[in-house]
Amino acid sequence: MNKLNFIDQETIKVINQKKIIQLLYRNKQMTKQDISKALKLSIPTVISNVKELIEQGFLDEAGVAESTGGRKPTIIRFIADSRYSFGVCIAKDKVRIILSNLNFDIIEERFFDLPSKLDNFKELILRIRKEVDYIISAHNITTQKILGIGFSLPGTVNEKKLLLENAPNLKVKNICFKEFQDDFEFPIFVENEANASAYAEAFINFNNIINSLVFISITEGIGTGIIIGDNLYKGYNKRAGEFGHMTILKDGDQCNCGKKGCWELYASQKSLVNKYKKAFGDDKNDLDYFLRLAEDNDKAKEILDEYLEYLAEGIKNIILMLDPRNIIIGGEISYYKTLIEKDLKSKVFEENNFYDEEECKISFSELQGNASILGATLLPMEKLFFFSEKVI
Ligand SMILES: [Zn+2]
Repeated sequence: MNKLNFIDQETIKVINQKKIIQLLYRNKQMTKQDISKALKLSIPTVISNVKELIEQGFLDEAGVAESTGGRKPTIIRFIADSRYSFGVCIAKDKVRIILSNLNFDIIEERFFDLPSKLDNFKELILRIRKEVDYIISAHNITTQKILGIGFSLPGTVNEKKLLLENAPNLKVKNICFKEFQDDFEFPIFVENEANASAYAEAFINFNNIINSLVFISITEGIGTGIIIGDNLYKGYNKRAGEFGHMTILKDGDQCNCGKKGCWELYASQKSLVNKYKKAFGDDKNDLDYFLRLAEDNDKAKEILDEYLEYLAEGIKNIILMLDPRNIIIGGEISYYKTLIEKDLKSKVFEENNFYDEEECKISFSELQGNASILGATLLPMEKLFFFSEKVI
């Protein structure tokens, strides 16, 4: 009985400390009295936990606030540079590596082109390791302060087994990151790119708590990450959210997943750019050029309109399936929000009996291309902020 009590008290202490860290991460600085009010904890509990967190380096005392009668209360400050985390984003043609502090400030960024043929994944990891070493020595950071390195990967990922199961765009299968653990002095974490993005959107934009969202990552293909009740929903086989391969057109185009008529063949960035290239006999220009053209060229406008029809069809299916509070669109297309937002919303919320614009908010990622890499840096921080696992 005594032992059970002891464990319970330890657990409560750990939970309280994580709550305090989360609160201070959001508010940056607060008095002990305000922490006590916000978390409904007694002042002595706050005092003893804050003391421990100061000893661990996460918080410090930063002067006094104005008194509301009696002694002036001490201000407790969150120290963003008390720990760091590396995020690595391996995309189809580029590898990005960042060092972030607990505030998700990007302290340093390095990138290089991905070799066209990935024969030897170990070589890629060693190249990443070289960049990581460079960053560590350039910023003179002790490895004890580094929580870990998180990888955002373009494929199905079993985060528990540290396994990249299948990444068609990289043309690799069954890459086990456990084999690379000895190459780093801190723990490795892995997650799928769209899941990492969803995770970043849900946590980093923490002020407007979004506990139910679907992140739609529109790139070469379409990946989606699902957050339900503050958890990343990955399903039994860790493959949930493959909405890019739901059938949008029966007997449609052949997808390289083996099926026909998959959503991403009609609503990915690649499909839009290819349609433009074909229609204008122009093989050189990119998304930016064509979307600017769509501002006043009828043919370009028509192609965009057809694209948005397909994008909206998929989004409607997702809303019917999951009833999320938020849909967040990421990828390069999100930079053209002003051009597409109105039309996309009117196509999604056209006459229907199920939902309206107030009930499901569609927005565009504000992390400007950084969602997945910031999600990767968040993976090693998870244990610091949360008590329970965030994947279901
Ligand atoms: Zn497919």
